Amino acid sequence: MSVKVPSQSGPLVDCYIGMGSNQNQPELQLNQAVDAIRQHPAMALQTVSSLYQTTPLGGLDQPLYMNAVAHIRTSLSPEALLDVLQAIENQQGRQRNGVRWSSRTLDLDILLYGKEVIRSQRLTIPHYALHERNFVVFPLLELNPECHIPGLGSLQEISETLTREGMTPL
Ligand code: ATP
Ligand code: CA
Ligand code: CA
Repeated sequence: MSVKVPSQSGPLVDCYIGMGSNQNQPELQLNQAVDAIRQHPAMALQTVSSLYQTTPLGGLDQPLYMNAVAHIRTSLSPEALLDVLQAIENQQGRQRNGVRWSSRTLDLDILLYGKEVIRSQRLTIPHYALHERNFVVFPLLELNPECHIPGLGSLQEISETLTREGMTPL
């Protein structure tokens, strides 16, 4: 099987995307998001982690989440990648009601963009809570056991500070 090479010029950057859904058939939402990434001309999907059913951050009065992490290579800048991911969220019916961590059909976060550290109005990379969220750390570790988080260190060591409480592998 050939691996698609993104058509836009520029260096390819390894990125990890955190995916979450707890509305309208979450597993289907994640599969659709993976298909959208696969079909995008400037992104080459490398691997997708196992899927995990997880308890919500925003309180237990919302449905359980489905979470996974995807490894891609892209020629897009960080801002352009965010635009594309938000467009995919919108295509899949993401409503933005201003309430943090409320139920959503699809959430796509840029966890890592190469080794870059970015703090702009629109972007914090590495994702600000990557190291605190077991449903991000363990799937990422599955994809890249040698992963190093800029500014924080070894992902393996970070994972040793967390438990798998609230996570059920599918
Ligand atoms: P959390 O960020 O705690 O996981 P959330 O994913 O629900 O919460 P959103 O409402 O999806 O938050 O995003 C709010 C804003 O976060 C976005 O409009 C975007 O500009 C910003 N943002 C900052 N850093 C990132 C990143 N690394 N990936 C995606 N969005 C980011
Ligand atoms: Ca998020
Ligand atoms: Ca988000």
